[in-house]
Amino acid sequence: MQYYNRKVEQITETEAWRELSGLAGKRFNPIPADWMNRLVFAACPDRAWPILRDAQKAILRRMQNARLDGLQLDRSPRNKNGTGVYTLKNADGQRRPYRIQIRNLNPLIASCNCSDYCLNSFGICKHILTVVSAILKQEKKISATMLNAPAWPQLPFLYWDPVRPWRGAGDWLDRLRLVEPPGKLDQMSKAHLDLLLLCKQDRSEDDRKWWLLKHSHADQPKKRLHILQVIAEFLQSDSRTASDVAIERLLRWDLDKTERILQSRTLRANLPRHLKGLKGKLYAYQREGVTRFFDSGRLLLGDQMGLGKTVQAIAIAHTLMASDSIQRGLFIVPASLKNQWQNECLLFSELPVQIIDGNPQQRARIYRQCKRGILITNYEQVIRDFHLIEKWKPEFALLDEAQRIKNWATKTALYVKAIQPRFRLILTGTPMSQGYQDLFAQMRFLSPKILGYNSFYSFAANHLEYSEKYPGLIIA
Ligand SMILES: [Zn+2]
Repeated sequence: MQYYNRKVEQITETEAWRELSGLAGKRFNPIPADWMNRLVFAACPDRAWPILRDAQKAILRRMQNARLDGLQLDRSPRNKNGTGVYTLKNADGQRRPYRIQIRNLNPLIASCNCSDYCLNSFGICKHILTVVSAILKQEKKISATMLNAPAWPQLPFLYWDPVRPWRGAGDWLDRLRLVEPPGKLDQMSKAHLDLLLLCKQDRSEDDRKWWLLKHSHADQPKKRLHILQVIAEFLQSDSRTASDVAIERLLRWDLDKTERILQSRTLRANLPRHLKGLKGKLYAYQREGVTRFFDSGRLLLGDQMGLGKTVQAIAIAHTLMASDSIQRGLFIVPASLKNQWQNECLLFSELPVQIIDGNPQQRARIYRQCKRGILITNYEQVIRDFHLIEKWKPEFALLDEAQRIKNWATKTALYVKAIQPRFRLILTGTPMSQGYQDLFAQMRFLSPKILGYNSFYSFAANHLEYSEKYPGLIIA
């Protein structure tokens, strides 16, 4: 357990700690820089200076964003000590969808259900920073004990440690803890009991009992799905504030993914039957590409020109449609290739396919009238028709010539990413000829976790020698 490691207490006198405090200056005000240092040290078990400094910069950026956004408290819990679940609103009063849970102030133990919190491994996000700043500005209400480190803070019933280990798969389920003693068996709810049956007892560093999962079954989707369903049942039966708010989101991501993988593998098992419906025959290597897609329902296909990426994509779309796994698929292709895509679809398959064209009313009509089929659009139209696409809810998206989106940080990329279809396929030229940044962004479209958790860790990955040189003092 890294997040609460008490050894962090012993390093407040180190040079690195003082250096970090110096760099932060008053930029975290009203939050004491020490509170943030603690998070930095907990997140970086090897404590090499460049990584500590970068981690601090990453948290400072979130502080700046919190200020820029001008978010304000919306709902606050009535607890006098500042703990509880908060919500936020925009400067213009519009409520934001995030739930921020404050467990303890010093050391700061808080969580949020935003995706940044779930992925960044710092145990902080701009929403938490906003809430903590607001609490500290009304410090009168906060008791002295809250501000001065208690021996062991109150943890949520079902607790998730946000700090990802530096090595290993970093599976979020491995960092789940059932904290409170279960009490008498006959007083437990069925959901609680079911969850406990999947757990084994473990001890924290200061000898508190807790339970963790015996197996997370990362590579066995059927067993994994069972675990996820038991946790979902538990969350439903639990009063919402007792469990970590981040878990809801992590669970939803994982359920989506695990269900998609199971669905894909069923399709893969029946692939020969589905492919019979195609008008042409696939070469062995093309069949392999199609099979690979159905490992998980997502794939970046980076073959060279002329190897029949189009045919593989059509075979994939055909399989999804023929098996009734999807009703609506969207092909996003360069404008000059829309006709060609339609022709190839008609040549190789019986896919119901239509090109999106015409004025806004005509385009809206096509989306509205298409209950089942493949629509072909181009990147520019995705921006213009975003509200239509959002309503149409494609379950499959194909991105052709993805390398032509020169900068994935552009508006087009943001819109494309926001569509969120279950099945995703990217066709691209030889990936290695692209810039690292674009490839990274494309991979993140397929899965936000595919290349590690965020830019901080991609930075960290290049500095792994540090962790060998300085064996971590904070090991889970
Ligand atoms: Zn957040």
